Amino acid sequence: MINVNNIEELIKKKALELGYEACGIIKVEEMKSYAERLNENVEPFPELKSIYKKLLYPYAVPQESHEWAKSIIICVSRYGQYKLPDNISSQIGKHYWFDVRKAKNTEEYNNRILFDNYLNTLGLKAFRDDLGFGTTAYKWAAQKAGLGVIRKNSLFYTNSGSWVVMDSWLVDKEMELIDTPSLKPCPNACTKCQDACRTKALVKPYTVNALKCITYLTSIADDLPPEELREKIGGCIYGCDACQDACPMNKNCLSEEEDFPDVNKIAEYMSLENVFNMDDKIFREIIQPKFWYIRERNLWKWKANSIIAMANNFESKYEKYLKIACDDEHEKVREIAKWACAKLSI
Ligand code: SF4
Ligand code: SF4
Repeated sequence: MINVNNIEELIKKKALELGYEACGIIKVEEMKSYAERLNENVEPFPELKSIYKKLLYPYAVPQESHEWAKSIIICVSRYGQYKLPDNISSQIGKHYWFDVRKAKNTEEYNNRILFDNYLNTLGLKAFRDDLGFGTTAYKWAAQKAGLGVIRKNSLFYTNSGSWVVMDSWLVDKEMELIDTPSLKPCPNACTKCQDACRTKALVKPYTVNALKCITYLTSIADDLPPEELREKIGGCIYGCDACQDACPMNKNCLSEEEDFPDVNKIAEYMSLENVFNMDDKIFREIIQPKFWYIRERNLWKWKANSIIAMANNFESKYEKYLKIACDDEHEKVREIAKWACAKLSI
């Protein structure tokens, strides 16, 4: 029974009404422990320090950029109910097909705005980062709020498995709403996620070397993947789900019974040949707003990713593309095409 005099319970009630699976609230100070976790994570990989300092450490102290922030509301939503496109879906991480962060034609996108407005009607100042990677470290905040657990593959799980995403709001009132997750921990002996990680980015439980992770290498990274990892990328062209697909805690969590706007339309552009031939107009108008981790200046990266996937899953129909790319106008495309031709001896 919800006590409507309790603002935390009102917030949670509204979040659930708007389709979120779970909602919790923590004080901003609770995020300090995230910095300690990062310190542990960075210890074996000093090369990650500068990236983490710029991108991740600020998440431990959101009150430094928003000095009025006292609490963090964190909401979880599931996407395992949505249908993946046929045939090509494994080339792209599942979440990215259903990324609502810039998808104005989705219910989830508009529900986040309704939630912004609701928080304002409660007299709260609230901030949600609607353009980028969020206001804090989602997984850590959600675990702190007791909404689920971070497993050994470093991903956050609820009863819906790891096929969930989170939104967060900084608010100017001290509040707390902590749940108790009912999930079993990872079995001590289980190493299925680590075994499934082809690039060995998942070096030990709870520790990912981002610079070797296929998701990073095929999306955010501004450069070509290191030569020793290219074959291990396999057919991935944007993200990787291997450590989630292998996890027994994800069993039966993908129901795929609902359509998601535009997925099949966009899938038509995502065959390796079409990605290779993607022009600037299709990239800017259709692909980049959907798969936005590859930045607007990096159309070359889609071509390079398609070349790596063609080389790793070679069919004779790809040969002409790999040869044409050896004379591409972009230096990095030429470089990766030459690597592919040398690997295939064509
Ligand atoms: S996403 Fe892929 S590459 Fe990254 S840690 Fe998981 S299995 Fe390894
Ligand atoms: S594969 Fe095993 S160790 Fe890895 S996250 Fe799943 S249950 Fe935990």
